[in-house]
Amino acid sequence: MTRLAEAVLIAAALLATACSERAPEGSVLLTASRIYTAPDLPPIDDGAILMQDGRIVAVGPGDQIASRGAARLGRCDGGIVVAGFQNSHVHFIEPKWDGADVRPAADLAASLRDMLTRHGFTTVVDTGSRVENTVALRARIQRGEIAGPRILTAGLPLYPENGIPVYLRGMPAEFLALLPQPGSVDAALAAVQSNLDRGADATKLFVMTPQGGGRVAFMKPDIARAAADETHRRGLPVLVHPTDIEGIELAIEAGADILLHTTIGGGKAVWDEGLVAQMVELDIGVVPTLKLWRYELERAGVPADIVEQALGDAVAQMRDFAAAGGQVLFGTDVGYMSDYDPAEEYRQMARALTPMQILASLTTAPAARWKEEGSRGRIAKGLDADLVVLDADPAENAAHFAGVRCTIRAGQPVFEAPPAGG
Ligand SMILES: [Zn+2]
Repeated sequence: MTRLAEAVLIAAALLATACSERAPEGSVLLTASRIYTAPDLPPIDDGAILMQDGRIVAVGPGDQIASRGAARLGRCDGGIVVAGFQNSHVHFIEPKWDGADVRPAADLAASLRDMLTRHGFTTVVDTGSRVENTVALRARIQRGEIAGPRILTAGLPLYPENGIPVYLRGMPAEFLALLPQPGSVDAALAAVQSNLDRGADATKLFVMTPQGGGRVAFMKPDIARAAADETHRRGLPVLVHPTDIEGIELAIEAGADILLHTTIGGGKAVWDEGLVAQMVELDIGVVPTLKLWRYELERAGVPADIVEQALGDAVAQMRDFAAAGGQVLFGTDVGYMSDYDPAEEYRQMARALTPMQILASLTTAPAARWKEEGSRGRIAKGLDADLVVLDADPAENAAHFAGVRCTIRAGQPVFEAPPAGG
């Protein structure tokens, strides 16, 4: 036997007894039938994850983790474990979020669970809401007063001058009055600075908005560019609502980092090779929001065959973009869309992406986009203990990403599904 082989055998013998070793003080153990530590790595079967002080301290085959004395998470054990999900397109605009600074913690916790944590979201990007209110909600979560996800917010979006989109006209007048519609570069800079000074983490621009009757309002290119430059100067991302392909071109011109939708409007449905190549070259991320299209078009009374065509076009945009190496970021527009179930989004994404590409859009891609690969997005020693426990393997069917048994944030369960039949 070579010395190397001997060393391996000795190491294996030591590891085999590790599970009977004492776990670190205050640690929590989660066992799993399978662990996907990252979308591009082979899974670990019969694994375990040890967490302490909100971080992962060990992950591996269950018989190699020092687990004696660790606390347990009951019903969370035994599922398929993946890293915590990011939903990169949500909104805290429904009346249930109003008065987030004073509303009872239990109410807000229930609302957060219903919209977000029960679906596995441990980080969310709010892409438009009243900035003070969302910052107040975030502060209460950060203080540990309310169980909820980590919140990043774009605060108040900027619209074209006289350019509130037709689909927002039903919102309360007090809310509409808050929305900046800058008519000059100075007004745009003031709006961006005020929003970021109040705690926003990004700037959202509506570069063009439908006004009804086929009319469209455009944000002037110098206004969009100035807003984006000021945001980038602070090291923060620019999120753009494109509306259609012309809007993507305006977003590129402005210096967008993330497009918050695929496109269904306008005369052209296909993102041609040149456009896709340009988006990839500029490292622009895209949030598909595929489920939203059916929801919007059906609500507008569009005939079923046209809805399917538009949805198919958006799926094709995503397929071509991903195939060219583009960064897809999962997002559903919940909060604007009152149906919170992500299962349909996963089903539509699966027409364009593999299950592991979808996992990347939920985990590693957003971590990379927010330059936080060192703290989240994968299951590895030293990273945040943000985890999702699924009932069934998403590699077999991407809809299984919607079957969440437990959501764990910083080592603590923030959602546990009730027992089956109970
Ligand atoms: Zn939205």
